[in-house]
Amino acid sequence: MVTERRGFVRHTKQREVILSVLRGTDTHPSADWVYQEVRKVLPNISLGTIYRNLGILVDSGEALELAFSNTSSRFDGNPENHYHFVCEQCGNVYDLDFPVDRELNGKAQAVSGHKVISHRLEFYGTCKNCESVPRDSNPTGEDVDVQAN
Ligand code: ZN
Ligand code: MN
Repeated sequence: MVTERRGFVRHTKQREVILSVLRGTDTHPSADWVYQEVRKVLPNISLGTIYRNLGILVDSGEALELAFSNTSSRFDGNPENHYHFVCEQCGNVYDLDFPVDRELNGKAQAVSGHKVISHRLEFYGTCKNCESVPRDSNPTGEDVDVQAN
């Protein structure tokens, strides 16, 4: 829960490190990945503290949480609405570099009668990296996901 008012978030040292880790990657990491990175700077931090601070950053509009039904949430240090592509092979999440179509809100409002304020959009398929690697061509059995960097 957030006890601080939007726009008046007091940044703790922990939260600053978490936000800089998040802004330092474009891989849309899980909370666990953020935890591993933040621990390199703050070895005593707990996973619970990571989750709590990620929640505060999301609630205060400084980060986005991308919730998916089939996997744990991914976090994005870019809080502006933007579209994503999700690879169904490796699970990587990529930014899509084209503008948010605000007319969609009006269309959705026109057909539904609901007051539509925003929308979230993800595209799904196979990413460039996975397309270039034929399936079942990974004799080591290791995960070909190279998200960690
Ligand atoms: Zn992929
Ligand atoms: Mn993004």
